[in-house]
Amino acid sequence: MKKMQSIRGMNDLLPDESPVWQYLERSVADLLARYGYREIRFPVIESTDLFKRSIGEVTDIVEKEMYTFNDRNGESLTLRPEGTAGCVRACEQHGLLYNQTQRLWYQGPMFRYERPQKGRLRQFHQIGVEVFGLNGPDIDAELLAMTWRLWQQLGIDQQVILQINSLGTMASRALYRDALVEYLTRHKDSLDEDSQRRLHSNPMRILDSKNPAVQAVLDGAPVLDDFLDEESLSHFRQLQALLNQAGVPYQINNRLVRGLDYYGKTVFEWVTDALGAQGAVCAGGRYDGLVEQLGGKHTPAVGFAMGLERLVLLLDAAGVVPDSIARQLDVYLVAVGDVQGKAIQLGEELRSQFPQLRLLNHCGGGGFKTQMKRADKSSALVALILGEDEVANDCVTVKFLREDRPQESIAIDSAVVFLKRIFLVNGS
Ligand code: ATP
Ligand code: MG
Repeated sequence: MKKMQSIRGMNDLLPDESPVWQYLERSVADLLARYGYREIRFPVIESTDLFKRSIGEVTDIVEKEMYTFNDRNGESLTLRPEGTAGCVRACEQHGLLYNQTQRLWYQGPMFRYERPQKGRLRQFHQIGVEVFGLNGPDIDAELLAMTWRLWQQLGIDQQVILQINSLGTMASRALYRDALVEYLTRHKDSLDEDSQRRLHSNPMRILDSKNPAVQAVLDGAPVLDDFLDEESLSHFRQLQALLNQAGVPYQINNRLVRGLDYYGKTVFEWVTDALGAQGAVCAGGRYDGLVEQLGGKHTPAVGFAMGLERLVLLLDAAGVVPDSIARQLDVYLVAVGDVQGKAIQLGEELRSQFPQLRLLNHCGGGGFKTQMKRADKSSALVALILGEDEVANDCVTVKFLREDRPQESIAIDSAVVFLKRIFLVNGS
């Protein structure tokens, strides 16, 4: 019979890989708590309308990438391709946005029908951050200083660079769009098929094109900067000053437009050249119009999302995952002979007195050799061996699995002190 397979682009996360993910997720959650951000959770499925109305009908996501289906009632539902829309919907529904500010974060799987490759999945995972009720550049700067701190803490700050841009207000963007279309129409023959198609549907996205020929045409195109209104310009200038003061390095990229309709003013991307074409590890911007667009009161908002698959790849590529993370076990407790009861007692006692200790009790019997093989295969540094002799003498044998060190016999009573000396010094 044919074996069952996962769906293309939807990966399993195996136990050898999960420690890095947990480390990353924990690091981000701890950091966000230090800045006063609170977690919100919302469903992975929403009504299709929500995404159409927020992301925009003529974006790549809505046109080509959504998993949309009818439920048994004939209602059109969509697996969330991103988190902002659902977050706004949830906040609005529960009255979290009225006359208050919110600093929120969420985490979980997102779904896009894309061509799967390294760092590009159909089910991928994001941690997202959204702030509501603040319209100044100070909060934009806080978000960027916070992410910069994260990269430093994880040890990948040398691998990423921040690119920022301002898209201005809707009105200034409309003026710019007209000028851009006018220019690109004159150079239509030099555009590739994709860009020609976008010329009418979503011309700003042409700025994002990776095609060198298209980029060459763009070299002579009008620049968005020249169309920015005074308010957006001043917001952008203040943001730069704040980033300078906070010591966050950045580049201005005035072709950065982002693929979603709801952005205005500040947009940004943290990019790396260590992952090939999938260079963006974290991206976001200001979306002051979205809450209103979804039926709420006007509420300024800014946020970003980071892609966890890409960050895990980057952590691995940079070789900065601490050793104690990959190692999931400290002690393997071997129990030979009629000592099961004693072994369980010892394991429980050690866990009570040394809660950080990661200890695995061997189960399923077997001789000394078999059990030691298991201990070796585990990632434990130490095997504790309990046999009938040990039980008779109230002691336990310690064998070091990863270093050339003679085995020792220690009294049961001193086992906790002994293990703490080994594992607390190493900082595990
Ligand atoms: P890209 O230009 O690479 O397609 P995007 O602009 O579509 O990215 P966003 O919608 O801004 O991406 O999502 C934020 C982050 O989520 C991205 O910077 C990236 O790290 C991650 N991401 C987006 N799509 C995928 C995907 N299909 N697989 C893995 N990670 C993704
Ligand atoms: Mg994309």
